[in-house]
Amino acid sequence: MDDRYSRQVLFRPIGREGQQRLAAARVVIVGMGALGTVLATQLVRAGVGFLRLVDRDIIEPSNLQRQTLYDEEDAELGRAKAEAAAQKLQAANRDVQIEAVIEDLTWRNAKKWLADVDVIVDGTDNFQVRYLMNDVAVQYGIPWSYGGAVSSYGTTAFFRPLQTACLTCLFGSDGDVGGHDTCDTVGVIAPVVAIIASLQVAEILKYLTGNLAALSNALMHVNVWDNEFRSVQLSPPKTDCPCCQLRQFQSLEARTDGLTVSLCGRRTIQVRPESSLQVSLEAMAERLSRLGQVRHNAHLLRCDFGDVQLTLFADGRALIHGVDDSAKARSLYARYVGM
Ligand SMILES: [Zn+2]
Repeated sequence: MDDRYSRQVLFRPIGREGQQRLAAARVVIVGMGALGTVLATQLVRAGVGFLRLVDRDIIEPSNLQRQTLYDEEDAELGRAKAEAAAQKLQAANRDVQIEAVIEDLTWRNAKKWLADVDVIVDGTDNFQVRYLMNDVAVQYGIPWSYGGAVSSYGTTAFFRPLQTACLTCLFGSDGDVGGHDTCDTVGVIAPVVAIIASLQVAEILKYLTGNLAALSNALMHVNVWDNEFRSVQLSPPKTDCPCCQLRQFQSLEARTDGLTVSLCGRRTIQVRPESSLQVSLEAMAERLSRLGQVRHNAHLLRCDFGDVQLTLFADGRALIHGVDDSAKARSLYARYVGM
C-alpha cells in the first residue's frame, strides 16, 4: 500500500509534508447522510489520521438515492449510519482510525465530541446543530466547515474563529435562519450534494496541509439546475458578534434538549428521555417480543408493531417511525419503552 497516496503527494501544494500533516490530523463529521458519506469517503481516502463520525439515525430505503456508502442490505436491516459507514470506510483504508458515535449532538455532548479535533465538519441538515458547532468551534478556536444542500442548490463556507466571520456574525444568534427548505419538503438530488461536500473537503485539505493562502474565505453558493455558481467573500468577524467577540455561547448554554424532533425525509419522530440513561437492549427485546417482531444488535433494537416501528438506542433515545405527531410519538414511547 506504499503507493496509496502517490497521486496526492505528486500534487505539489500537498506533497510529502502535507501528507504527513494529514496523517496526524483529527477530524469530526457530524451527520452521516448525503453530505456526510461523501465527506467521509474523501477524507478517509485522503489519509486523514483520525476521523470521528457522529450520527443519530438509521439507514432507510429513501437514503440510497444519494447516501453513497450504504446499500440495500443496510436499509433492510435498519443499521445505524455511523456504524455502517465506519465499517465500509475502514475497508477502504485500514490506516485511518475511525470512531463511530451513534448519538444525537446536543449541548450535553457537543464538547465531548467536537473539542478534541483539528477541524469540525458539518454534514447535518439543521441549524440547531450548526449553532452548537459554531459555539464549540469559537470557544476552542477550531475551524469548521459548514455545508448544506437541498433541492438542486447548496451553500458552504469554511469558518476560522477570529479570522473570518462566524455563523452568528453571518446569520445572527436567534438559532434559526427561518423558513428554509428541507429535503423533506423540496427533495434533493445527488449531484449538488457531491459538489458541496467536495468543496468542503477541498477547503479542509488546504487547511490541514498548511495551504492557508489557498483558502477561499468565501460563502459559496451553487445551483446545479439553474447553472449558478456564486461566491461572496466572508467578512471579518463583526465587532459586536455575541458569539465570537463577546464569547456568549448561547446554544451551549441554553441547555435546551427539545424532547422530540421530527427527522428529515419521512414520518419519523425522535424521542429522547429527560436524562440520558442506559437501556438493556436485550431485556427490552425480550419484553417487546410479545408485542411485535424484534431484532437487535449491540447498538440498537428494532421492533415492528405493524403500522408503527420503533428503533431504540442504548442511551434510551428512540425513533418512532410511521407517525408525524410528536405527542403521539411520546405516548408510544411511554407505552413501549415505559420510562
Ligand atoms: Zn461571530
